[in-house]
Amino acid sequence: MPAEVQEIKLRRDRDALRRQRSPHRKLYDLAIWRGRDGLRQQQLARQPLCERCLSQGKTTPATTVNHRKPHKGNWSLFIDPANHESVCKDHHDSLIQREEARDHVIGSDGNGMPLDPDHPWNRR
Ligand SMILES: [Zn+2]
Repeated sequence: MPAEVQEIKLRRDRDALRRQRSPHRKLYDLAIWRGRDGLRQQQLARQPLCERCLSQGKTTPATTVNHRKPHKGNWSLFIDPANHESVCKDHHDSLIQREEARDHVIGSDGNGMPLDPDHPWNRR
């Protein structure tokens, strides 16, 4: 098998696994998200470039809408346009991988407390 085919197959397996592991993936099938005038399209129309690349001085077309703060099934976070961020596939993949690797949200609030409500620091 040529290396490129193998790579594509690997990536497909990884994506399938990721979808399986995400309990909220069904939200992305809703018309409000993926419809012709859905939230995803609206965000990409507002910001067609990857915001992470832009901050590094690069212009890359965005292909994916990321949730700045993972919604974890929280409807308000899911649909909040302020929580949407246009990213390229590379950035999206690396963001997801980092969050999966740590299993909690990257980032903290102004007090240095982790933003992730499930972070051990925020569990009482
Ligand atoms: Zn990017």
